[in-house]
Amino acid sequence: MTEFDYIIVGGGSAGCVLANRLSENPDHQVCLVEAGGSDKSPLVYIPAGAAVTVPHGMHNWQLNAMKQSTMNNRDIYCPRGKTLGGSSSINAMLYIRGQKQDYDQWAAQGNEGWSFNEVLPYFRKAQNQERGASEFHGTGGPLNVADPRSQHCLSEAFIRGAVEAGEKDNPDFNGADQEGVGWYQVTQKEGQRCSSAAAYLHPVIDRPNLTVMTDSQTARVILEGKKAKGVEIVRGVVRRKLFARKEVILSAGAFGSPQLMLLSGIGSREKLDSHNIDCLHELQGVGENLQEHPDVLVVVNDKTASSVAFGRPLGMVRGIKDIAKYIHKKEGFLASSLAESGGVWRFYKIFTRCRKA
Ligand SMILES: Cc1cc2nc3c(=O)[nH]c(=O)nc-3n(C[C@H](O)[C@H](O)[C@H](O)COP(=O)(O)OP(=O)(O)OC[C@H]3O[C@@H](n4cnc5c(N)ncnc54)[C@H](O)[C@@H]3O)c2cc1C
Repeated sequence: MTEFDYIIVGGGSAGCVLANRLSENPDHQVCLVEAGGSDKSPLVYIPAGAAVTVPHGMHNWQLNAMKQSTMNNRDIYCPRGKTLGGSSSINAMLYIRGQKQDYDQWAAQGNEGWSFNEVLPYFRKAQNQERGASEFHGTGGPLNVADPRSQHCLSEAFIRGAVEAGEKDNPDFNGADQEGVGWYQVTQKEGQRCSSAAAYLHPVIDRPNLTVMTDSQTARVILEGKKAKGVEIVRGVVRRKLFARKEVILSAGAFGSPQLMLLSGIGSREKLDSHNIDCLHELQGVGENLQEHPDVLVVVNDKTASSVAFGRPLGMVRGIKDIAKYIHKKEGFLASSLAESGGVWRFYKIFTRCRKA
């Protein structure tokens, strides 16, 4: 088949939800096109597998930012998922919503429906909170949210230390107040990663009106005037065109979607000219002003050998025990998000403390 009602480009966090919800209507023919392959890999579903997929490029685009003057002229590594589930198949699984004030600010800027109180019902609907339903949490949704099954003694020491230093112990970063320190809840089910593909796509993948194409990279959006009519995809050496009766939806991620627009001739003429791409729809701002948060790793030499150290004899013994623990109970270090505890601070508090120190 080459004609569908909806073509969704990118089977990541957003794409899997769209594929599920749009194909709920049996009259809709839906096609999901994903550049990566199947996600049926232990490295995806065993939570600590991210220790391999994130740095080593499996199921991962392994992007790099251009050298940034504000980053001491370094080109910062930007991993992004390349498989069904997209980045939700390689991420740290921390279940953290945005800050209430950010949503309210978006709404105040004219984005109707985006205030926190308006998005909260959707967060609740998506969720199966294992702790039960409350004002801020829902049950019965596809995305399973659980307390962490791995609670490393160093993660616990971090919480204890921060509380001793005067921080608030916060058992729920998605409750009434985000401030404080505590354990992160995770998008896991029974000790396995609950990616967007696991939550939304796999349960419905056999629907007769849903076609999922993996290992198929969209090369460009086909335009008729300024209207998207279809996409051209590449699978191996084969190029083919797919057409959409209703909509082409780009959910190829914060990097992939604007890149695809530019490759399709949608963007600023100047930028497209410099790459010899015909400008078919002049649109300023495409592929610009990306803002990302830095992830800083502080590496400490732990003389007590309580951390994870497969290179040391004690660490190896512990590692073998952890594998057995995971096989039998889906617990232990292999169930770890690798970022088990953390905190949310107000910037002015840190600033004041730093000045005092
Ligand atoms: C290492 C890492 C850790 C993270 N940790 C967390 C966390 O703990 N908690 C949290 O909430 N968020 C976390 N995030 C962020 C979160 O995972 C992303 O914000 C989210 O997954 C983005 O969803 P998306 O649908 O926009 O894009 P993605 O999930 O990245 O999906 C985009 C999909 O489009 C596909 N694609 C791209 N280009 C094309 C093309 N041309 N043709 C076809 N397919 C294409 C990609 O292969 C991918 O599958 C993390 C992200 C990373 C990378």
